[in-house]
Amino acid sequence: MKCFDCPRNCGVDRTFEKGFCLQGEDITIAKIIENFEWEEDCISKKNLAIFFSGCSLRCEYCQNFEISCTEVGKTYSVDEFVELLKKYKDFDCIDFITPTHFSSKILKAFEIYKPDSTIIWNTSGYEKEETIEKLSKYVDIFLTDFKYSDNNLGLKYSKVNDYNEVALKALKKMCELKENVFEGEIMKQGVIIRHLVLPMNVENSKKVLDIIKENIKDPFVSIMSQFTPNGKGDLNRKLLPLEYKIILNYADKLGFNQGYIQDFCSADENYIPKFTNS
Ligand code: SF4
Repeated sequence: MKCFDCPRNCGVDRTFEKGFCLQGEDITIAKIIENFEWEEDCISKKNLAIFFSGCSLRCEYCQNFEISCTEVGKTYSVDEFVELLKKYKDFDCIDFITPTHFSSKILKAFEIYKPDSTIIWNTSGYEKEETIEKLSKYVDIFLTDFKYSDNNLGLKYSKVNDYNEVALKALKKMCELKENVFEGEIMKQGVIIRHLVLPMNVENSKKVLDIIKENIKDPFVSIMSQFTPNGKGDLNRKLLPLEYKIILNYADKLGFNQGYIQDFCSADENYIPKFTNS
């Protein structure tokens, strides 16, 4: 079967060759972490994180470079993946981290078995609307990036020339399909829009916030400061406190009033993101 799982539309038969995401036909998982507590505070701490191998964006500055840009991991057929989901069914949430390039296989698994856990689709935001529509039957929370307003940056760092338009269509679809629902402090359904502020790219971040403001009603936004240089490309320094402050002030000016910001100390190699209510 030719692969059109992500907007790159490589059209390769992953049984025989690999597309941009570097993955074969089976679902490949790089690691699984139980009680993964580094997501935003509204995500239950009884969270099972599944880190899928490969990525359909493979950003040059990726913080998980060893997972996203290499071919490491254990492979699972759809049936084996179903058994894996059954094994972990008692977790409050199951956090699918960078799963887009396995979406057709994951959808097949959900048709066989969907755990009662809150399902989190933790994505780069570069998604097809029709895939979001299909997933929404099973996924409770879209935890989605909105990385670039400037398509030149998308091209430079993620080798796509249409990130802005594609991600915006997908984001609108997510928000249309999943209204935010909380039980106490915990999100049970909804959309969290993440934006990682890149060093030397304050204008990109401001325009991302403008786009969210113009297109999404009552957005729940997580503005992240944790950028850590990975030794590749020209983003070779951490975010400056001033750059982050400019973006937080801008978000405030636009009237964003729900979501999270990060403690600035998150931006170190130990990657300990702490989210605080904005
Ligand atoms: S999922 Fe991989 S092979 Fe399929 S279209 Fe996207 S990058 Fe290409």
